[in-house]
Amino acid sequence: MNFRSGRHFLQLPGPTNVPDRVLRAMDRATIDHRGAEFAEMTGQLLSSLNRVFGGAEHVFIFPSSATGAWEAAMVNTLSPGDRVLMFDHGFFANNWRMVAERLGVTVDFVAGDWRCAVAPSMVEAKLAEDQNHQYRAVMIVHNETSTGVVTDVAGIREAMNRAQHPALLLVDTVSSLASMEYEHRAWGVDVTVSGSQKGLMLPPGLSFNAVSQKALDGNAQATLPQSYWRWDAIREFNERGFFPYTPATNLLYGLLEAVTMLHEEGLPRVFARHARLAEATRRAVKTWGLEIFAREPAERSQTVTTVFVPDGLDADTLRRVILERFDMSLGSGLGALKGKVFRVGHLGDFNDLMLAGTLSGIEMGLQASGVRAAGSGVTAALEFLASEES
Ligand code: PLP
Repeated sequence: MNFRSGRHFLQLPGPTNVPDRVLRAMDRATIDHRGAEFAEMTGQLLSSLNRVFGGAEHVFIFPSSATGAWEAAMVNTLSPGDRVLMFDHGFFANNWRMVAERLGVTVDFVAGDWRCAVAPSMVEAKLAEDQNHQYRAVMIVHNETSTGVVTDVAGIREAMNRAQHPALLLVDTVSSLASMEYEHRAWGVDVTVSGSQKGLMLPPGLSFNAVSQKALDGNAQATLPQSYWRWDAIREFNERGFFPYTPATNLLYGLLEAVTMLHEEGLPRVFARHARLAEATRRAVKTWGLEIFAREPAERSQTVTTVFVPDGLDADTLRRVILERFDMSLGSGLGALKGKVFRVGHLGDFNDLMLAGTLSGIEMGLQASGVRAAGSGVTAALEFLASEES
């Protein structure tokens, strides 16, 4: 491989660029995970992290990728044969469904259009039909990383309340947490699933379940097989500052630093920064004359923009040109979208000039691939960024 100077541009919608402060925080000797220093760190971390989720009864931290946290959310709340309600709104919704079915959960998977969010009215209608309250949970992906479409979680909870249905609400926030407004408690979510490698600006390797009192209360009745993921054992140990197994100590150092950075910036400012960079990206895409996958402007993600390539161009060829020529990784089209779209991640430790570089790489890649863009998306984005104060 040729030598490459400067930093690689990692513009996937996760893993995201890890800030130097977080890298430095992890670059320390591992300490005794049963000692007083570790216990003090756990206490500080759990309370500071809880504020990022918007207040939960407890936040469980697992040494796993977010797929593990999907499993943890289910084995701690469901029993074999339980029915859950899910919607076909993207690649990750499909993967979560697959995990549920492998665990022995019966999924009612409602067909949908990947270009649109899950409509609260649809949830309400499905729950209203369920007179005997067979559904134990409604499971939604807040920000579909494959499509760049956001679902209104507060609206889904209101729909569940209108239907007077007792189902739990399980929400995947893997690519929205710490980047877009999210309120675990205020929105009435029972289990929030997340991962470390996106808005939390860490390397991959940690995942989370933020849980409500109702989810904890139901834990004792859940009979899906569970061992490693058991909330009750972890909670008991967490109360003393520990974990029931060897934790990922150095990732926890990094997490504490990342959460400290988020609170220093202030979550409302973090969200506003992401909204602004997302808007600049969308302006660039529009100016190039390309089409954004998410159909409704109000449902477009603040962390990832999924973009159709023009007919006749393979999106993976474009991504390869951009990687080889300009040293930037973009997200690929997932599932049925393979080759048809590319995804631009604009989340995490990210600012105006990093976005300017990202969009420049795409614009040059389009040109090098023979696409005649309608106009300069970079110029449109820069004009917007220069005129809008952060
Ligand atoms: N859910 C969403 C929305 C995701 O974007 C991802 C990964 O990108 C996952 C779940 C799975 O996470 P992991 O790859 O960390 O297991």
